[in-house]
Amino acid sequence: MDWLGSASAQHFDVGGLRGSAPAAGSATTHTARALRRARHGKGWRLRGCHDCGLFSRLPPSIPGMDCRCPRCGALLRRDWQSPLAAPLALAGAGLILCAAALTTPFMSLRLLGQVRGSTVDSGAWVFVDDGLWTLALVLTATVVLVPLLRLSLRLVVLGGLALRHPPRWLYRPLRWHGLLNAWSMLEIFLFSTLIAYTRLASLADVQLGPAIYALAILVLIMIAADMAFEPQAAWDALESRGITATPGPLPAPPRHAAPPAILACPCCHHVAHAPDGTPCPRCGTRLCHRKPASLSRCWALIAAATILYVPANLYPVMTIVTAGHSEAHTILGGIAAFVATGSWSLATVVFVASVIVPLLKLAALATMLLQIARRSSSSLRRRTKLYRLIEFVGRWSMIDVFIVSVLVALVRFGIVASITAEIGAACFGAVVVLTMLAAATFDPRLMWDAAGIGDRVPEQAVVQ
Ligand SMILES: [Zn+2]
Ligand SMILES: [Zn+2]
Repeated sequence: MDWLGSASAQHFDVGGLRGSAPAAGSATTHTARALRRARHGKGWRLRGCHDCGLFSRLPPSIPGMDCRCPRCGALLRRDWQSPLAAPLALAGAGLILCAAALTTPFMSLRLLGQVRGSTVDSGAWVFVDDGLWTLALVLTATVVLVPLLRLSLRLVVLGGLALRHPPRWLYRPLRWHGLLNAWSMLEIFLFSTLIAYTRLASLADVQLGPAIYALAILVLIMIAADMAFEPQAAWDALESRGITATPGPLPAPPRHAAPPAILACPCCHHVAHAPDGTPCPRCGTRLCHRKPASLSRCWALIAAATILYVPANLYPVMTIVTAGHSEAHTILGGIAAFVATGSWSLATVVFVASVIVPLLKLAALATMLLQIARRSSSSLRRRTKLYRLIEFVGRWSMIDVFIVSVLVALVRFGIVASITAEIGAACFGAVVVLTMLAAATFDPRLMWDAAGIGDRVPEQAVVQ
């Protein structure tokens, strides 16, 4: 394999990784040295930071220990007492509650002697009736399919690891599980339901069904399950039992492949010395130095989201019919309705989530892209923290879409009182999805690369 080395390069052979590093002083040489050191410390592993690109050495796991990137503070690994058994039990309990939440009545509304009930997915069916297919798809995916899939995949992986002879394909469901993380929005849906309930309860008789209680417990269990599940522990357990995508040494790259580099897998965080595009030996994900075409894709998604933000605010998100009188409400109109009823706290929450957050997210991402183009090296740590905040908070903009979904599912009493979703809601849902995709496409390591300090190797990660 000619890519493994040349006469002038420094050779290393670390933990099954064989390769070579180019001239001394380069980032790759530092990484090669760290790989060599990682081999001598038993149980120590090299890990690339997903936020700043720094390679650092992680010690063997000790329950209760957090390993953080010494440069940007990103959490690299969290160790638990029982990293596989507790998440398995929580995933099982979560699936049972999921089934209860999806099959029992969610809410019911009594108006002038008529009663209308709804289930968790009723809003999606009403969106289909109103011709808003994309919104129905987003609602079904984020509130039903993704949470169910995440819990099922986790149960399959952790249940499989508990077997004496786990199946050979077990690394695949763990890889798919990693792709779904940001798209499970049960907690946001629950919060939106409480806001919609507050709005309806002042106008009519609203009853909460068993599904909402199951959903509340499910949200708590999923938060606990997400905290208790450290995918790195599952990857290490799979690797120790020989269940990997490519058992043994890396396959030879194509004849005209790029020269090898030290690459960190974005999915399982395995570090390999290989040309760009080589499949990760542990999970099979394509290894890349940085996310492909990150800047151009991010600009395109920001532009699309900015364009859609205009109709999302100009067009109504819903039409409310009361006693034959029809009134269209925009996002700002809905906030004004909360203010009119004296619900200042709810008005503030919806205003921040629906107006401020999307705008700040678009502005912050555009600023970061411009700073990369200018090769700015100022406030790198603060910018990386801002990126993490954007990724975390961005999903909460979905509150307005979920409030509309709960209202349209319940208030359907013909000309007496009914609420219909409008095109503004679909545009706003698209803005949220596009900004989330933009944040996922953006590679924060490019900010550190632009400042000329991308790949560096310190002695070890910060242990807390
Ligand atoms: Zn970092
Ligand atoms: Zn991998």
